[in-house]
This record gives sequence, C-alpha cells and structure tokens, in this order.
Amino acid sequence: MASGLDIRLGAVVETLEWGLSGVRATTTDGRVFLADQAVITLPLGILKTQRVKFVPDLPLDKRNAIEQLGVADAVKLFYQFDQPIFPEGIVELYVPGSNPDEWWSSTRGHGVEGEILTSLATGDKARELLALPGEQALRTALETLRQALGRPELTPRKARLAHWRDDPEAQGAYSKACVGASTARSVLARPVNHRLFFAGEHTASNAWAATVHGAYASGRRAAREIIALRHQPPLHRPRHDYQGGREVAQSP
Ligand SMILES: Cc1cc2nc3c(=O)[nH]c(=O)nc-3n(C[C@H](O)[C@H](O)[C@H](O)COP(=O)(O)OP(=O)(O)OC[C@H]3O[C@@H](n4cnc5c(N)ncnc54)[C@H](O)[C@@H]3O)c2cc1C
Repeated sequence: MASGLDIRLGAVVETLEWGLSGVRATTTDGRVFLADQAVITLPLGILKTQRVKFVPDLPLDKRNAIEQLGVADAVKLFYQFDQPIFPEGIVELYVPGSNPDEWWSSTRGHGVEGEILTSLATGDKARELLALPGEQALRTALETLRQALGRPELTPRKARLAHWRDDPEAQGAYSKACVGASTARSVLARPVNHRLFFAGEHTASNAWAATVHGAYASGRRAAREIIALRHQPPLHRPRHDYQGGREVAQSP
C-alpha cells in the first residue's frame, strides 16, 4: 500500500493551521508542509490531550465529539520462555474467573525460539495492573498462567509489559464508546470546510471502531471524500496550488 508514496517517518506534527488558502502543518523539528487538504488520522488520545494544536480550533461539534468518546486502557504482558510451554496444537488460552477473563496467545508456529506468551488485559483488569509497579504486574499475570497450566515452576527468561497510556503518540489504546456518544464517531468523521478530513479507528462506524479494518475503511472513506471534491464547484483555491502536498522552507 505504501509503494510509491512519499512517507516521512519521524515527522511529529505540532501545529495544523487551516483555512481558505489550504493547510499548513508544522512539525516539532520546524519543518513545514503545505497542502490543499489534510487527512487527520491522529489517535483519539492525541486529539483529546490537544498535543497537536489546530489553528483555528476545530469546530465545537468536533470538540464535543472528541470529549464524548473515551479512550480504552489495554496492557500487554510478554513472557519469553526457553522451551515451548503450551501443549502441542494449542496457540491460545482463555483463563476464566477474573474480570474480564484473561486471554493468552502464543508465538507457536511463528518460528520463534522457545515460546513467547502474551497476555492481553483491558478495562478494569488493565487499570488494576497499571496501578502496580511493572515488576509486580508481571508477577501477578504470571501467577495466573502458572495456576491455569498447573505449573508453579514456570519461569520466563525475559518478561516485558507494554501499554499506551503514556505514549506521546498514542495517549491510550483505542477509542471506546461512552453513554451518550452514539453519534460521536460520525461527527468526528465529517470533513471540515473541504480542508480537514478525518480517518482512524475512532471515526469508523460503531461496529468497526477500535479495529484495524475500521481504521483501514475510514482511510478509504476519507480518500473518496477528497476525490469527490473534484466533481464539486471549484474550491476557494489557495494562492499557490499545493496539489499533492509539499514541504517548504520555514518562513522567517
Ligand atoms: C493492545 C491492542 C490490541 C488490539 N487488538 C486488535 C485486534 O485484535 N484486531 C483489530 O482489528 N484491532 C486491534 N487493535 C486496534 C487497532 O490496533 C487500532 O484500531 C488501529 O491500529 C488504529 O489505527 P489508526 O490508523 O486509527 O491509528 P494508529 O495506528 O494509532 O495510527 C495513528 C498514527 O498517528 C501517529 N501520530 C500520533 N501523533 C502524531 C503527531 N503529532 N504527528 C504525526 N503523527 C502522529 C502515530 O505515531 C500513529 O502512527 C488493538 C489495539 C491495541 C492497543
């Protein structure tokens, strides 16, 4: 999908100015990009914490929708073992009894030496683990695995915990619906003034939100919206035509 595209990695947008003459994105290292339109795929957590400044601010209905939706907590705990742990033919394990049930998956069959087992915790369980020091959270989940498999001696070579709450480019795992937010995703998905277009899992339909396929479909939807502009009456054109987008030297 990325083939032939000019993708700049490490370009962290700090400010996004938008108006009649187009869109101007300034990155934290001072680079400036101009375009006729921008598709904003920033995670909901970034929109909520306003790490990217919109100038002028986003319309009120968008800001309300951003506030109405929630950001879910999720924690992944990884344990690397020298030897295969799960019985042959088993690649996933549900451990009922905790709320929510714990879900373990394995790297078995992926050519990994030994075996890496991953536990995914969400909701209250994730918050419970996040409240503990990392080492203790890893010990707690390992204990569940030991009990579930009836193997108290299980000891991983390495263990690691990952979460997205403090990630400066995520600020949370993915969007979650909240009471009263049933239309928030469709409001977030709407373009603004033929300049700003929105995609990302939080703009997908309620049924597809918080998934990869929802994010993918929303990107295609935003692309179609921009293509459809060609069939509309001429836009208020920028002084220069930035078609395709381009980087410019920073103005003094
Ligand atoms: C633990 C976990 C398990 C999951 N499991 C599943 C699953 O089993 N199935 C499934 O379908 N989905 C799953 N998901 C959800 C899925 O990963 C997301 O819905 C999807 O990746 C979201 O894609 P996106 O493009 O909307 O956002 P992202 O993939 O988060 O992309 C947003 C991008 O914006 C970038 N960015 C942030 N700030 C800036 C900035 N200032 N300037 C420039 N760029 C910036 C980020 O670096 C990132 O690359 C899971 C998610 C998590 C966290």
